[in-house]
Amino acid sequence: MPSILALNTGSSTVKFGAFETARGALTSVMRGRIEFHGPGRRVLSLDTDGVVLTEAPWVDRGRDTAPDLLRWVEARLTRPVAAVGHRVVHGGPDFSQAVVASEAVLDSLAVLTPLAPLHQQQGLAGVQALRNAYPDLPQVVAFDTAFHGGHEPVVDRLGLPRGWEAKGLRRYGFHGLSYESVAEQLATLDPSTATGRVVTAHLGSGASLCALRDGRSVDSTMGATPLDGLVMGTRCGSLDPGVVLYLQQVAGLDAAELVDLLYRRSGLLGISGLSDDIRVLLESDSLAAREAVDLFVYRAAREVATLAGGLEGLDGLVFTAGIGENSPRIREKICARLAWLGVELDPAANSRGTGRLSAAGSPVTVWMIRTDEERMIARHASRLLGLDR
Ligand code: AMP
Repeated sequence: MPSILALNTGSSTVKFGAFETARGALTSVMRGRIEFHGPGRRVLSLDTDGVVLTEAPWVDRGRDTAPDLLRWVEARLTRPVAAVGHRVVHGGPDFSQAVVASEAVLDSLAVLTPLAPLHQQQGLAGVQALRNAYPDLPQVVAFDTAFHGGHEPVVDRLGLPRGWEAKGLRRYGFHGLSYESVAEQLATLDPSTATGRVVTAHLGSGASLCALRDGRSVDSTMGATPLDGLVMGTRCGSLDPGVVLYLQQVAGLDAAELVDLLYRRSGLLGISGLSDDIRVLLESDSLAAREAVDLFVYRAAREVATLAGGLEGLDGLVFTAGIGENSPRIREKICARLAWLGVELDPAANSRGTGRLSAAGSPVTVWMIRTDEERMIARHASRLLGLDR
């Protein structure tokens, strides 16, 4: 029974999961994360509730993190790692499903870096570092865009001259591994809602919404890049394109300064002037912190309604990711703005924060479901490499 290591590389953490695979089943044997920020850089292994089981100091060697992590994990497993799967944010127009990471694949994915400057290189660097250290180790890349590949053309078309679409400039949607994980769990938990019209809210340091019909993505708030849509931890979300022209022409910002402003210094951090962590903002007395939370909530609720418009109704609303899974107050604030659409929370269920959160008889069923992107990455890798037989 081989083990598979799934690496989920974000801008501030690497989450990982190790799975044993046999006869179509994946068994989780370890999960954890590396924390790069703050003075205490460390690697943690966690139980299924996120409780820390072991932790060790971590020496950040930049792009060489992945081989170190593979060795750290393998030293704690009973079976060697037969393959590694990676989350890569952007698959662009050419990759609509997971693929084996060849040199040619990596080259074409690197070209997409300007469309995901905080994420694309980080994901690809892990693949490359493992290729250098272990050339014979099979590696698979699984894309955040792939789950959205079935959108109607009208959903993904931008209002630009047609030639740009042929160059790959269209809406894609992201967080697809998370939405795939949640859709699969919802189908088991609540099949009648899962076959209907559902909006899933992935609210973490990156945040987006996905509209699903019968478990398949039909629209998303993120577009050509993971900058679009909701206000996020440090990203601005949807912005009048004229603002970008103004920042360039009047304020004189160049491309690198725009990336820094729009991806790293905006969102909750930029509006509050305090933090990108919603826990800090909810605890703060400052007006700016309250205004940042208000904007986050307003935009999330407004965009749920927008996606419900595209779906022509709403049967289910699912919260997931760091904020969606753990913050009853944010869920309550968003749902309060959606009462007109038939969203009625059960306050006690929302405080407990497990499973079904809606009141009995609520026209829209509300769920909290923990996302498991690492399991999806491992699933794609094991199927592609035939390790699941
Ligand atoms: P993710 O990107 O899914 O890992 O989510 C990270 C974000 O989740 C952090 O920036 C926090 O703002 C948020 N978060 C984590 N735990 C909590 C919590 N208990 N309450 C509210 N927000 C949380």
